[in-house]
Amino acid sequence: MLDTATNRPELPPEIARRRTFAIISHPDAGKTTLTEKFLLYGGAIQMAGQVRAKGEARRTRSDFMQMEKDRGISVSASAMSFDFGEFRFNLVDTPGHSDFSEDTYRTLTAVDAAVMVIDGAKGVESQTQKLFEVCRLRDLPILTFCNKMDRESRDTFEIIDEIQENLAIDVTPASWPIGVGRDFIGCYDLLNDRLELMDRADRNKVAESISIEGLDDPKIEEHVPAELIDQLREEVEMARELLPALDPQAVLEGHMTPIWFGSAINSFGVQELMQGIGKYGPEPQPQSAQPREMMPEEKKVAGFVFKVQANMDPKHRDRVAFVRMASGHFKRGMKLTHVRTKKPMAISNPVLFLASDRELAEEAWAGDIIGIPNHGQLRIGDTLTEGEALRVTGIPSFAPELLQGVRAGDPLKAKHLEKALMQFAEEGAAKVFKPSFGSGFVVGVVGALQFEVLASRIELEYGLPVRFDQSQFTSARWVHGEKDAVDKFVNANKQHIALDNDGDVVYLTRLQWDIDRVERDYPDITLSATKEMM
Ligand code: GDP
Repeated sequence: MLDTATNRPELPPEIARRRTFAIISHPDAGKTTLTEKFLLYGGAIQMAGQVRAKGEARRTRSDFMQMEKDRGISVSASAMSFDFGEFRFNLVDTPGHSDFSEDTYRTLTAVDAAVMVIDGAKGVESQTQKLFEVCRLRDLPILTFCNKMDRESRDTFEIIDEIQENLAIDVTPASWPIGVGRDFIGCYDLLNDRLELMDRADRNKVAESISIEGLDDPKIEEHVPAELIDQLREEVEMARELLPALDPQAVLEGHMTPIWFGSAINSFGVQELMQGIGKYGPEPQPQSAQPREMMPEEKKVAGFVFKVQANMDPKHRDRVAFVRMASGHFKRGMKLTHVRTKKPMAISNPVLFLASDRELAEEAWAGDIIGIPNHGQLRIGDTLTEGEALRVTGIPSFAPELLQGVRAGDPLKAKHLEKALMQFAEEGAAKVFKPSFGSGFVVGVVGALQFEVLASRIELEYGLPVRFDQSQFTSARWVHGEKDAVDKFVNANKQHIALDNDGDVVYLTRLQWDIDRVERDYPDITLSATKEMM
């Protein structure tokens, strides 16, 4: 059966009820708090605060995590599943710091929508803007939550204007705040004609919800102070006149974002947002792949790795590959084909990330995220299928912007260092290049902070003190071309050539002039700043 709205086959109910999304925000806007409340309403935790508390217990286990805590950044991403009403939500966490943008980018390839959290006093901040641009590249639907309305916030029209202007997306208010700062009492729910009143005394209490028949309903006067009623009526009238009405199709196409106003810490507006995600958020979407797209309605199981995390549990040297299920109904114990190596893989102990605990996944449907523990076979960009040679596309690797040489503090430990570096490279935490001359490695990252993270992780997880030092190179480019042309190029430029951790040829240099020269002198060669992970 075709779904009339999307012109696509209707999905099996188990798949249609899934909503897989990420939260994007500028640090401090309230992502963690909102996540906590999602889990609270999703029944995944009993009390807000538990995620953080658990997180801290885990963090104290290593200084690396300590660093994450000190800096107030979340370096590692994970996935959480929970039910809300008839829906199954899969929330994929994105690292918040801009130095980890490549990781974030790849995480966003695994979701069907994003919730954008902004601070009502600050509006669209730099990191929000960057992450939004990434979502836009994939036309991801975006739902917006304007947080911290319990504090002094900006004028509602001004906030909406700023989003429309800066992000070039239509904004439609799903709710409208009543009063500002200390006088903020709640919201008028424009979609359901309800008053939602915030309880400041009890932060975990669900807002009181009062049905009214439009803003002229005299019942309003019992709940909203007289001086705020006129303002509310006026603003809502203006909003309805000046701002576009909610168009679900435009939301799904990523051209319009509905905005809810609330206060995550007061649990206010969160449920309305969640209902919005269920109602206006997309079902699991097709995934781009070669030689054809992977469709969620297909009976056969397929999925792809968008993230690898090593040493999640320092006691076991395990790695977990995070796999986004793209189609079918997966059952534990299934044998899938690892397309890159063409080898069968029995998936016997997959994990599903329920709140902050890992649980064995007995089954998973298109849209779900499962973790597959492995010893390094699974890499970012890998595809698993029931045999068909499909390969996911659109999971890029970016040329690093910073390069440094790295040496083991103890020269006898060079082999260990190589192993550690390869592992981080496969995890996507850094690019590792082995120059074809001399010894040692060149490590490339996007932001300087990553060197520090690497150094502390190598020391903690491998007991290897390491030193990063300046490299003679500042840029890396992947070399593409016919084999003969590449060989000729490599032979003539040995001092610049290295292999990356997949064995692909890379050209290292410190001068843009060199890159221009290569492009001029070697018309058969292309130097590229990105490569597809496959
Ligand atoms: P993240 O960096 O985006 O994950 O932000 P957090 O969730 O850690 O929140 C940053 C700070 O804002 C914390 O001190 C929160 O307690 C606070 N916060 C979060 N939501 C609200 C809210 O609705 N109102 C107020 N006043 N503070 C909030």
